[in-house]
Amino acid sequence: MGDVSEPQETERQPSRVSRRIGAIAESATLAVDSKAKALKAEGAPVIGFGAGEPDFPTPDYVVAAAAAAAGDPVNHRYSPAGGLPELKAAIVDKTARDSGYAVTPGQVLVTNGGKQAVYNTFAALLDPGDEVLLPTPYWTTYPESIRLAGGTPVEVFAGIEQGYQVSVDQLEQARTPHTKVLVFCSPSNPTGAVYPPQAVEDIGRWALEHGIWVVTDEIYEHLLYDDVQAPSMPVLVPELAETCVVLNGVAKTYAMTGWRVGWMVGPTDIVKAATNLQSHATSNVANVSQRAAVAALQGSLEAVAEMRAAFDRRRATITSMLNEIDGVQCPTPQGAFYAYPNVEGLLGREVAGRTPTTSVELAEVILDEAQVALVPGEAFGSQGYLRLSYALGDNDLTEGIERLQKLLA
Ligand code: PMP
Repeated sequence: MGDVSEPQETERQPSRVSRRIGAIAESATLAVDSKAKALKAEGAPVIGFGAGEPDFPTPDYVVAAAAAAAGDPVNHRYSPAGGLPELKAAIVDKTARDSGYAVTPGQVLVTNGGKQAVYNTFAALLDPGDEVLLPTPYWTTYPESIRLAGGTPVEVFAGIEQGYQVSVDQLEQARTPHTKVLVFCSPSNPTGAVYPPQAVEDIGRWALEHGIWVVTDEIYEHLLYDDVQAPSMPVLVPELAETCVVLNGVAKTYAMTGWRVGWMVGPTDIVKAATNLQSHATSNVANVSQRAAVAALQGSLEAVAEMRAAFDRRRATITSMLNEIDGVQCPTPQGAFYAYPNVEGLLGREVAGRTPTTSVELAEVILDEAQVALVPGEAFGSQGYLRLSYALGDNDLTEGIERLQKLLA
């Protein structure tokens, strides 16, 4: 009798967390940042090179616009899921002003930060089995978003010896009949590399020729040094517009990481599909943040010019100080605010009585022994590298790298 009352289906043990979500790794960059912040809160003198955010306040006029918006009852209600018409118009104007790319409001979806634009884009483009060419080192969110959407990331590696820039030949070698999308990010997180205009055009022409979509992330467009340029791919290859999605946001340009406003610009069918998804997932981005973004985009680029001057100075300091360490090779980044040294020369060497053999282990030793937080290259698909954000105060930056020099001497 006891047997009869047993549940019949004993073979199938559904996991508590779904396989799809259980497979997602925690964002390594956010994890390093929160570990550093927690240690700091406990009183440890940690210096953090982990965060991917400007250390400047949001410009006053943006904050004032948000404060005014908070007092206006029109902003206390739901608004169109795809974004406020005023913000879409401001994005259209900004896109024409900054990159010379002419688009219409129907091609714009306002998202909860650039991150949601990444997620929505891959969700709208990919079916199971679709392959996405992913220049590596990559920003840590891309492969997880691609997998969540059912796609398969295909890494195309470009190390220090090729300036962290993939070639058309490499992309061609990685191309299969299942290749649907190429991810392009210049200036790059994590490497700070900026592709020269000719390379942008060559890659765009290659994608067009093979009917491959390009998802191009322009979030660091205004953080360029040494007079380099980072033209928008669909401007250099206008025929690509039908198979190209441009990602952007206010986070890095206006020191607005906490406000959570980004966007995608693409062909209307893809943008419509992504808007439908967003209408069920999150609805409109917070109206106050959207109004703040309107003020930012309609304002001048003076604030980013000031930040750029500070980053430029820190870039020179961090690069030269890192290169003084035996076993570290750090190319001069030309964009964003990251240094991406190769540290293979340090692996297998004794550091404070330990012998790290991977960049993850090295980053752990550095955090424990020098109380300096940085992100190991594994987070970006490349062993033997470290990422250091130089968006921190000049004094902290110098002290942090001095600690590294001492520890690794
Ligand atoms: N793209 C890249 C390359 C980034 O580095 C980031 C932020 N780390 C984003 C997009 C997204 O930024 P947010 O979601 O803060 O707008």
